[in-house]
Amino acid sequence: RTAVRAVGLSKVYGSGDTAVHALDTVDIAFEAERFTAIMGPSGSGKSTLMHCLAGLDAVTDGQVLLGDTDLTGLGDTALTRTRRDRLGFVFQSFNLLPTLDAEANMLLPLKLAGRQADQEWFDEVVDVLDLRARLSHRPAELSGGQQQRVAVGRALLNRPDVVFADEPTGNLDTRVGSEVLSFLRMSVRELGRTVVMVTHDPSAAAYADRVVLLADGRLAGEITEPTADTVI
Ligand code: ADP
Ligand code: ADP
Repeated sequence: RTAVRAVGLSKVYGSGDTAVHALDTVDIAFEAERFTAIMGPSGSGKSTLMHCLAGLDAVTDGQVLLGDTDLTGLGDTALTRTRRDRLGFVFQSFNLLPTLDAEANMLLPLKLAGRQADQEWFDEVVDVLDLRARLSHRPAELSGGQQQRVAVGRALLNRPDVVFADEPTGNLDTRVGSEVLSFLRMSVRELGRTVVMVTHDPSAAAYADRVVLLADGRLAGEITEPTADTVI
């Protein structure tokens, strides 16, 4: 089953002589319940691809299919609702609210959407991410790795079809980063989620089930069952 896919996806920034072809007719499918890393040099189009897949950026040409939903055909209101109800986001910079404790941070998106958290699912997420003992701590009382785990928990609470993680280990040292990647992998294995991660770090990409390589806005290859030796 495909969770999300791009069909003939192109993205051009600007126009005329200064136009930048950030993505050039990209076709790619992301299988459900898999952890995929998008890798490539700076400027290769990783962020643009992720932003288009997540409905954060308008596409120039082509389609983005989230299940049966063509995101490129949705208006702003429907797109915002789709992101809120069906997607999860994890950022390099955690983006937690400093005045709220871990539990309140995790629940905030649902609360803003006027929805209740499913208690059973909340407990499952908290246990898999090993956050039980941290729920009443504010971000300043948590390590960087713990903060990012809270951000992962927040991204999971709406049972998203896809979690998009943008350089999730960019602000963490290698050891702590590895720990967060293990938890992202557990979100796939134990919680049945689909994760698409952008990273320029080969050691981070090695945690994925599949690595997709971008170069100059095109697919340049892929590695299935990556290991630290095959991702360089
Ligand atoms: P990556 O994430 O791999 O570093 P990006 O997707 O950020 O690559 O960028 C791909 C190309 O598109 C680059 O040439 C970049 O300069 C260009 N680009 C990205 N965002 C914009 C923008 N908002 N306006 C103009 N050009 C952009
Ligand atoms: P940085 O590491 O440069 O501070 P982030 O990793 O936090 O950036 O964010 C990466 C991208 O995601 C940025 O282009 C930013 O505009 C976008 N972004 C950050 N926070 C949100 C949000 N809450 N909703 C949607 N997009 C966001």
